[in-house]
Amino acid sequence: MLDDPDYFSHVIDGTTAVLVEGIAGDVRGTIHLGWTATSIDDRGDHVVVSSDRHEVVQARCVVLAVPVNVWSRITFTPLLQGASRAMAELGQPGCSVKVWMVVRGAPPAFRGFGVTDGALVYVRTERELGDGTSLMVGFGWDPTLLTVTDPPTMTLHLREFLPHAEVLATDLVDWNAEVESSGTWYSRPSNQGSLVGEFFGESSGRLVIAGSDAAPAELHPGSIEGALAMGRRAAREVLAIIGSVGS
Ligand SMILES: Cc1cc2nc3c(=O)[nH]c(=O)nc-3n(C[C@H](O)[C@H](O)[C@H](O)COP(=O)(O)OP(=O)(O)OC[C@H]3O[C@@H](n4cnc5c(N)ncnc54)[C@H](O)[C@@H]3O)c2cc1C
Repeated sequence: MLDDPDYFSHVIDGTTAVLVEGIAGDVRGTIHLGWTATSIDDRGDHVVVSSDRHEVVQARCVVLAVPVNVWSRITFTPLLQGASRAMAELGQPGCSVKVWMVVRGAPPAFRGFGVTDGALVYVRTERELGDGTSLMVGFGWDPTLLTVTDPPTMTLHLREFLPHAEVLATDLVDWNAEVESSGTWYSRPSNQGSLVGEFFGESSGRLVIAGSDAAPAELHPGSIEGALAMGRRAAREVLAIIGSVGS
């Protein structure tokens, strides 16, 4: 990141909602929202998935595309094995927080890296808003340092970088606190015993593993790109499974 802070330079036209709606529009089946899987039982010739509301779905195979930090809340039969099991037990440590800020008094195209353990460790201008203010994004490394994010508090944090800036408005979702994510973008664990660095997205039987967290390094885990690449990979695997039993 220090080499190329603008690595994530592609902006989705119309926000990520447009991307999600585009993908959902390609799905021919029904999408059930608010359906929390609690168990996945691979019975050899089909899979049974149960929800927290005791609903049951049977299918020829299942694609597991939930964040790795929620895998431990799902009962897998048979149990996950090897690196997949280790990751389910350990989880991934990504817990960064991303804060959007409308700022007055910032220079154009600002980039700042924090050198301390402050609440914000990286701040950059996203774009000028044309009225003398800027849309800026800040990243924190510890969610407990960003529990209060009102403009006066964020002004104090931002002034570690820009002593004369003033934050006028903020927006933040702490995905660490959301049970469906229980963390943010994937970071490789530093302590995974003998399984450090091993690929943990290997599918098994009728359980196809997808999701950005489980992407191998070359598919960019922890990014939207990784999620899309794993989706494409999962589609090929599903076709192979369905094809092997006839459609
Ligand atoms: C604040 C923030 C900013 C980011 N910024 C960028 C960025 O600028 N560029 C970029 O490329 N990436 C970014 N990322 C990372 C990117 O968003 C993720 O890597 C990507 O969304 C992962 O996609 P996914 O489909 O694998 O998982 P998710 O998008 O996490 O989707 C998983 C889904 O599974 C659901 N779920 C969870 N548990 C269950 C269950 N038991 N049963 C059923 N469903 C369940 C969840 O509700 C969720 O809908 C950011 C992440 C965060 C948190």
